[in-house]
Amino acid sequence: MYDIIIIGAGPAGLTSAIFARRADKKVLVLEALTYGGQIINTPDIDNYPAAPHISGYDFATNLYNQALELGTEIKFEKVIDIEVTESIKKVITSENQYECHSIILATGADNRKLGIPMEDELLGKGISYCATCDGAFYKDKLVAVQGGGNVALEDAIYLSNLASKVYLIHRRNQFRADETLVKKVKSIGNITLVLDSNVIALNGNDYLEGIDVKDKDGNVTRIDVSALFVAIGRIPENQNFAKLVNLNEFGYVISDETCHTNIDGIFVAGDNRTKKLRQLVTATSDGAVAATEAIKYINNKK
Ligand SMILES: Cc1cc2nc3c(=O)[nH]c(=O)nc-3n(C[C@H](O)[C@H](O)[C@H](O)COP(=O)(O)OP(=O)(O)OC[C@H]3O[C@@H](n4cnc5c(N)ncnc54)[C@H](O)[C@@H]3O)c2cc1C
Repeated sequence: MYDIIIIGAGPAGLTSAIFARRADKKVLVLEALTYGGQIINTPDIDNYPAAPHISGYDFATNLYNQALELGTEIKFEKVIDIEVTESIKKVITSENQYECHSIILATGADNRKLGIPMEDELLGKGISYCATCDGAFYKDKLVAVQGGGNVALEDAIYLSNLASKVYLIHRRNQFRADETLVKKVKSIGNITLVLDSNVIALNGNDYLEGIDVKDKDGNVTRIDVSALFVAIGRIPENQNFAKLVNLNEFGYVISDETCHTNIDGIFVAGDNRTKKLRQLVTATSDGAVAATEAIKYINNKK
């Protein structure tokens, strides 16, 4: 029987583990993929206090090692369900089930897909959700980015230094990104804006050979790009808990700065909860708060 089971070994989950272990709680972290979460592939983090220019891999590894050194148990199993009875909470993975007093949901978010044919088949063969991870494969090639927020514009700027030309395709005629990014994108010679438009088809069987783009008047244009970087947002990983905790219309667990959910003893931390800013600093902050609340809950119960 664990005191706290933390679902997700991203920045929020691992920070929760550090705080819970320092209070001497018996802690299990369950992670579906690998430790570190979304940040693991980012080459350079510039906005985390007191750690300038650290890579995502180093950041995640430091966090992981810190949690392990403090005695956190970490298992690589995907959580598929949670059952709550009056006294015990059961966390069910694809391989096992574990009992605990309290749970912290720290499952973060995943890439939002375009939802068009061949998107999955061409993943890694021209379709990418991470410009900083895959951009270097397309040096001196024609590439496209779909999206209109900060990530899409940052991707376009990053790719403009590698690719011969970048088409930035956005469904509206104005970007949602910060004004400084918009200005920068507009000032770069090899970025071409394709506004009021959406990618509607992917051409190629073994690898991406081009995309069909439809504008608001219904005109379809083929653009021969070697890669399409999809940057249209992220989906919170809360599907497995939807019948248990209250989610908002976008699928985020409804909570606030206390990290409580509607279920007693179940807390939420990081990008998968309702909040204004989804960044490392807020994810780790949530991790600390959720663990502190879980510790209080367990101590009161005992
Ligand atoms: C390309 C990119 C660059 C970024 N750069 C920065 C930056 O420079 N600075 C900054 O502050 N932020 C940056 N961010 C945002 C930052 O990475 C996130 O805010 C942060 O990772 C959120 O942490 P988290 O722990 O809430 O979620 P995540 O990092 O998403 O971690 C959640 C973890 O839970 C696991 N999980 C999900 N479902 C299950 C399940 N059912 N069972 C078990 N495990 C599960 C996932 O595999 C994942 O490891 C960037 C994000 C991206 C994508």
